[in-house]
Formats: sequence, structure tokens, C-alpha cells
Amino acid sequence: MNERCDVAVIGCGPVGALAANLLGRAGLRVVVLEKEREHYPLPRAVHLDHEMMRLFQTAGVIDRVLADMVATDGHLHVGADHGVIRYMGTVGKPKPFGWSNDYFFYQPELEAHLRAAFADNGAIDLRLGATFTALEQQGDGVTVHYDQDGASHTLAARWVIATDGARSPVRKALGIALDDLDFEEPWLVVDAEVEGPVTFPPITGVPADADLQRLSVMMCDPARPATVVPGRGNHRRWEFMLLPGEDDQAMMQPEKVRELVAAWMKDVPHTIVRAATYRFHGLVAERWQAGNVFLAGDAAHQTPPFFGQGMCHGLRDVANLAWKMDAIANHGADPAILDTYQPERDPHVRGVIGAAVAAGRYICELDPAKAAARDAAIRATAAQKAGETAHDLIPAIATGLVMPSPAAGARFIQPILADGRKLDDVAGQGWRLFVRDDSVTGTSPLVTRLVAASLDDAGAVTAWLDAHGVDAVLLRPDHCVFGTASGTGVDLIEARARALGLALETA
Ligand SMILES: Cc1cc2nc3c(=O)[nH]c(=O)nc-3n(C[C@H](O)[C@H](O)[C@H](O)COP(=O)(O)OP(=O)(O)OC[C@H]3O[C@@H](n4cnc5c(N)ncnc54)[C@H](O)[C@@H]3O)c2cc1C
Repeated sequence: MNERCDVAVIGCGPVGALAANLLGRAGLRVVVLEKEREHYPLPRAVHLDHEMMRLFQTAGVIDRVLADMVATDGHLHVGADHGVIRYMGTVGKPKPFGWSNDYFFYQPELEAHLRAAFADNGAIDLRLGATFTALEQQGDGVTVHYDQDGASHTLAARWVIATDGARSPVRKALGIALDDLDFEEPWLVVDAEVEGPVTFPPITGVPADADLQRLSVMMCDPARPATVVPGRGNHRRWEFMLLPGEDDQAMMQPEKVRELVAAWMKDVPHTIVRAATYRFHGLVAERWQAGNVFLAGDAAHQTPPFFGQGMCHGLRDVANLAWKMDAIANHGADPAILDTYQPERDPHVRGVIGAAVAAGRYICELDPAKAAARDAAIRATAAQKAGETAHDLIPAIATGLVMPSPAAGARFIQPILADGRKLDDVAGQGWRLFVRDDSVTGTSPLVTRLVAASLDDAGAVTAWLDAHGVDAVLLRPDHCVFGTASGTGVDLIEARARALGLALETA
């Protein structure tokens, strides 16, 4: 007889590992199949944002990952004349979500921490050297075939989450095509350990509060577009665009890499850790769900890394799936709520990839005259964009499991309380109803009710309610606003029960 679990997670990169932690924490039985024996040892992602830190809080892994995260100050784009054209800085700006907007990290360390946390988070069975080969769907689940230690095995699961990366064998097995967002540029990615600061060419118009060593700096120089990114500790990342006719192999040669990096390091001792070429492209799967199988992370979408959001998309994907699977498996919600996964995530991902592709098109401009015109056009919009941060690129959820109302689908704030704790540490991680004061009605067995007037948050939640002209806000477990209401929270409670397919008295 087949073994059976609630969820088979196929692929244990960062996205699969977060999925397993969230699902295991919710009490689901999770088997993770990973074809490699060791996690990928080289850094790819280096940036994540405040929303990921909050998800790490939700998954109970924040204490493990925090020590290896470095908060930084945002993004700076520099034009062909080496003058600033765009600044998305966060210095001195409020932190409404409880974390800094931008963090830099080392992906292999993050993956190691996420795997180590499996031991804290319930029934998570990680099978290394286990290669997915095929699957079949029945009405109530999926049979997964995999090879391990020279033998073939099967595993029965209610659901499969395919987090098996850009080449996704699961996506291929399902015959799901990728939409090509028509962007493909070759870049050389170089990681180094450095013993001192990076030397930048003279840059004009650097804002007074900007420290180049703490920013992701994009040199949109048509002679060779390049990014310099601060990492954790002594780690630094360079990304250099390959020019027409340049050969990948030749550009990866150690002497060529040394030459490219030396211009930025002057006399500072440094060690190149690796250099590899990548095609930066925008691709989104046409379908993210086939029956009880869900694509997530790079298996579902790939983005040019210009805003450092590729992995972040994937972590949002599995946060979305995990709370819905928890609601179905543990609280009797209608399994059809999983049909809202792609409608919620796909437009969101396409919106952010669209912004990265748009930035990529101007960053990768190699014609000096067009680059100068680009700089003038971007500078002409400077007044409109003043004060922007990378956070502004991330939209709210527009459709799906939300109740149409002010701020529905937006990420809710996470104020830091007077005693230093963050709101989620006090309010919990499930469904939460915040009401202005005791006079605002609304309660339900599986919803935590919190009174804004009683929170020691310097009035942050009350100010949020005021700003949206409402008296109650209901949050989903992924911290997105389900809906808002005036006068009473009862409508929200009823709408939630309907959306989840639950009887009101048990919801
Ligand atoms: C140069 C570069 C810079 C980037 N910078 C950023 C950044 O700053 N911020 C950001 O958010 N993102 C960034 N990204 C993107 C980020 O690295 C990826 O989005 C992320 O690694 C994807 O994670 P994943 O878990 O979906 O897939 P992966 O990390 O690719 O993991 C997939 C896993 O599936 C396993 N697998 C594959 N086939 C099978 C099989 N048949 N059976 C079992 N297991 C299998 C693989 O071994 C692997 O462990 C960057 C990417 C690149 C290339």
C-alpha cells in the first residue's frame, strides 16, 4: 500500500523549504522530495523585503535567519552621464510593516536555516537524493513517483506543491507552457568576499542621505550596464551585462572576471567566489494549478532580478497556498478555495515582473543617444517619483478571496508595540479582526478579535483605520486585508464564512 501524506513538496530550494515549514507548523504531514543531497552551495538571490521577514516570523524561523540578514537602504539608478536618475531609498522613512524595507542575505545560509527549522515545525519528512519522475491524479489526490537510492518509489498525497525550480520537471510532466514576457538579456554574475569598501566612479546628484556602500547601485551606463550590491558581511555581488558578440565562456574566465571587478576594488583585497552567466528573462506559467498539483516559485515564474523579487514571489506563493491548505485540512473550508491561488498570485507576479522588465529595458539600453534620452525622460518624472521605495512596486491582491472594500488585498501594517514586540507576536498568525473600539461588533470562534484602542502601538492601527475611513479590518493568515467595514465587523465575519464555505457558527 502507498504511503500517504497531506502535501508532497517537490524540490527543496528556498520556496519548497518555506512551504514545508508553514504546512508542518499547521500540523499537516509533509514529505519533501529533493533530488540533490546538499542544498545549492552558491548564492543566487541576495535581496528580500519586509514581507519575507514577516513570513519568516509566521513560519517560526525568524530567530534562525535574522542574524544573517543585513538591512540596507534601497536602490539607486545612475544614468549614462553618471548622474543619478532614480532613487528608491528608505533612510529615515517609516517602517510600517515592522521590518526594514530591504535586506541582503546569502542564499545558501538562508536555505540551511529553513531546512534546520524543519525539526521545530512538526511532521516534515525531507527525503534527499529523491528525484521526482512522474505523477498521476485521482479524484482525492495525487500519486507521485520518485527514484531514490537506485529504487523507484511511490507516495500518495492529497496535494502536491511543485517547487522544483525553473526547469520544473513537474511543470513539464503536466504539459504546462510558459508565457514569454519578451525580455531576455545575458548577464555575468560575480560574487566576491571583499575586505573593504567598493570604489564607485564619480556619481553626481547622490542624495544627501544615500550611502553608496549600503545601496543596490545600478549603473545604467551604455558602455556596460552593471549592478553593485552589498551583501551580508564581506559578501559583494556584481552583475555585468554582456555586450553583443561577447561569449559566455570567455566572460567567465578568471582573468576577465578579475579585470571587471578590479575597477571597483582598487587596492582592496578581495576573493572572487564564483562567476556565472545567466539569461535574465521574464516567464510566467500559463496554468499554476492542475487538479491537486500547484506550481510555485521559479517553477511558476521567472523574473529579471532588477528589483530582487524572484524568490520573494515564490515565498508569497507558498504562503498563499499554505493557509488555504490549513483552512481545508484543519478547519473544514471548501477545497475549492484553492482555485483562488492563480487568480490571486498570477496578476500580482505579472505586475511586479512587468516593473522589473520595464526597468530592465531602460537599464540594458546600449545606444548612447537613446540612453541620454532615457535619462532625460526619467529625470523629467523625478517630482512624481520623489520618495518612492521598492515597496511601491508591489501591488495589492486584486481578486480572489477578498471582500471588495477599501484596502482589500493590501498588506496590513505590523506596528512595533511599546514593549518592543511586533504586532503579529501579540495578535497571532491566523485570521484577525481589528476593531476600532469595544462598540464595534464582530466575533467568531476561529478569528482573533483585537481592539485597536487597547493596543500599545502608539495608535498605529487606529490611524490605519482612520486613513481608510473604516472601523474594522479583517486580516487573512498571510497578512493581506480580507476586507474592511464601517460601524460593525459582522459583515466581514459573515463574508469570510461564505468565502471559505463554512457554516457561520463554526467559522
Ligand atoms: C543571478 C540571480 C540573482 C537573483 N537575485 C534575486 C534576489 O536578489 N532576490 C530574489 O528574491 N530572487 C533573486 N533571484 C531568484 C531566486 O534565486 C530564485 O527565484 C529562487 O532560487 C527560486 O527558488 P525555488 O525554490 O523556486 O527554486 P530553486 O531554488 O531552483 O529550487 C528548486 C529545487 O528543486 C530541486 N529539483 C529539481 N528537479 C527535481 C526533481 N525532479 N525531483 C526533486 N527535486 C528536484 C532542485 O534540486 C532544487 O533544490 C536571483 C536569481 C539569479 C539567477
